[in-house]
Amino acid sequence: MENIKWDGHTHSEFCRHGSGEKTALMIEKAIKEGFQQYSITEHAPLPRGIIEDEVVEKDFALLANEMESYLSLIGTLKKEYQNHIKVLAGIEIDFFSKFKPFIVDLLQSYEKELDEAILSIHFMEANGEYLCVDYSANNFEKGLLVYYKTTDKLHKAYWELVDEMVSSKYHPKIPVRIGHIALINKYIKRFPLQNPDLFSKAFFKNIMQQISKNGYSLDFDVAGLALKTCGTPLITAPIIEWCQDLKIPLIYGSDAHNIKKVGHFYDQYQNTITEVE
Ligand SMILES: [Zn+2]
Ligand SMILES: [Zn+2]
Repeated sequence: MENIKWDGHTHSEFCRHGSGEKTALMIEKAIKEGFQQYSITEHAPLPRGIIEDEVVEKDFALLANEMESYLSLIGTLKKEYQNHIKVLAGIEIDFFSKFKPFIVDLLQSYEKELDEAILSIHFMEANGEYLCVDYSANNFEKGLLVYYKTTDKLHKAYWELVDEMVSSKYHPKIPVRIGHIALINKYIKRFPLQNPDLFSKAFFKNIMQQISKNGYSLDFDVAGLALKTCGTPLITAPIIEWCQDLKIPLIYGSDAHNIKKVGHFYDQYQNTITEVE
């Protein structure tokens, strides 16, 4: 589906839950691995009030007042490496049901500086709070699983949120990709589904039709492959089938938060893509 070697999902030295390694060195690793295109997609500022504690908030995402220096770093790196790799300015924006206008505003405010955006879910509502889906297996169990009672119910609620995210209108002027669409599977080996048949191809029909209609691409996020609790990319087999049926581009994403993970599992991505072509 994609002919150029492209890492479409990476984080930067601005990320406080990453390694803090220089973004330039991550790009150099990508060049060494033969990548021709490289997207920097840092976690975008969160709407006010999602995370009350400012220290915790800082750990999750850029602060609004850091956007300028983030974009300026990308500008510098674009020039510095222009003869070796095409660097794209991106951002990974969190979806929250109650804050859709925030996404529209964010996209509008930076449409000139950004080449593209990723739209992801990392939080779900439980008891009037926002809980992180992918912080840790223990946190997942004690928070989300207790609240939603069964894995099946939790997964169903997650996919309903995905459906809402891909069906809403944001009027983007830049390409939008859906980030790690199956993040809910991050701990699937530890908390398996009771009835996996619920999530067969038919279940994803509306989600995938909306993605196709809105012209989004999908992040083939390999981060899950590195985890014992997951062991698969953060996408499901039926979703890959739908991508093939509806000609939805599947873009490799290392989701690297350090130098080492830039380009990891690219072969698995390539094998999957070749099989479905
Ligand atoms: Zn991150
Ligand atoms: Zn993410």
